[in-house]
Amino acid sequence: MVDSFIHDVPAARVVFANGAVTQVGDELQRLGCSRALLVAGGPEAQFADRIAADLGDRIVGRFSDVVMHVPVEIAERAVALAGEIGADSLIAVGGGSSTGMAKAVAKATGLPILAVPTTYAGSEMTSIWGMTEGRRKTTGRDIRVLPRTVVYDPELTVSLPAEISAASGMNAIAHLVEGLYAPGVSPISFLQAEEGIRALASALPRVVADPWDLDARGDALYGAWLAGWTLGTTGMGVHHKICHTLGGTHDLPHAPSHSAVIAYATAYNEAHAPEAMAAIVRALNSAGIPCTSAGEGIWELASRIGAPVALKDLGYSLDAVDETTQIVVDARPINPRPVDPDGVRALLLAAYEGTRPGASVS
Ligand code: NAD
Repeated sequence: MVDSFIHDVPAARVVFANGAVTQVGDELQRLGCSRALLVAGGPEAQFADRIAADLGDRIVGRFSDVVMHVPVEIAERAVALAGEIGADSLIAVGGGSSTGMAKAVAKATGLPILAVPTTYAGSEMTSIWGMTEGRRKTTGRDIRVLPRTVVYDPELTVSLPAEISAASGMNAIAHLVEGLYAPGVSPISFLQAEEGIRALASALPRVVADPWDLDARGDALYGAWLAGWTLGTTGMGVHHKICHTLGGTHDLPHAPSHSAVIAYATAYNEAHAPEAMAAIVRALNSAGIPCTSAGEGIWELASRIGAPVALKDLGYSLDAVDETTQIVVDARPINPRPVDPDGVRALLLAAYEGTRPGASVS
């Protein structure tokens, strides 16, 4: 029997193709915009250069001070720049950090975002914003920050180093896992989450073996699209709350933290979300990752692709466990298994060590 559900899908136009970056100008026009602020930092700025050359005077400014977790004081500078140059739109080129900075501007100004993602973070498909002030990261939902158009071009991802690709792919897997057991899951989002795990688990080993394999890159980006969409339309549980705390309070890198925690968060929920766990095992098995338990299977995937599985390798200290636990428990995340201090502490200690959860991967 199908459970009751609400399937609430905010609209975003998605253009997915090799070479799609050349369509950014047409897509901007379709939005009725002609004065864009380009938001891009890091090596991805090379793609922003190409877009700037294509669009000419339709790019009226650039903001390149892109910092992970969107510090409030930097976001304020981006908002001020958008006002000074009279921007009517934002083009975010890059990973979740670029998209996040554009979202901060959209939240303050209502300007539409056209996103050109170059990692597997998935932020481009969500109305979730995040900002960090002091040592606390705050997130919320606001339909104004949902990009109006997303241009996915696998060719822009071949330069993403294997190591970052692996961690970013596990970040996407984490969205899909939590989407499967989120209270807002619908029959459609369940299917898309399972398919996303299958696509990423099949693509990531090929991406890591050959980062220039465009077929593998396309499959991984397809999985990342499904992951972002799942995150945007369902919800987050204990895993995401832990990772927001690791990033916002302990300054750990975003995607590697997700990678190091997701196997243990899955194992934490294993007995409390049987349908979700069965879907994860099915998806991993059909992607060639043999496993009988979801937590172990995810650990196996991360290990095979060289993605982080231990928080101790990311600079996390055992001294931080109590503070992390307190923040996570106080936040009361909605999660299949109740979120209590002893459980979260044990989860963090397991993720710190990074040993295989459970025992029986065949
Ligand atoms: P990121 O954007 O910082 O990118 C990671 C690294 O990869 C950076 O050094 C970047 O310069 C580099 N890079 C990106 N694309 C590249 C390319 N094509 N070639 C070479 N290098 C490239 O990190 P991320 O993991 O993509 O995003 C993390 C941020 O996104 C965090 O702040 C996180 O909170 C946020 N996020 C938000 C949501 C949401 O829905 N709001 C979802 C996921 C992530």
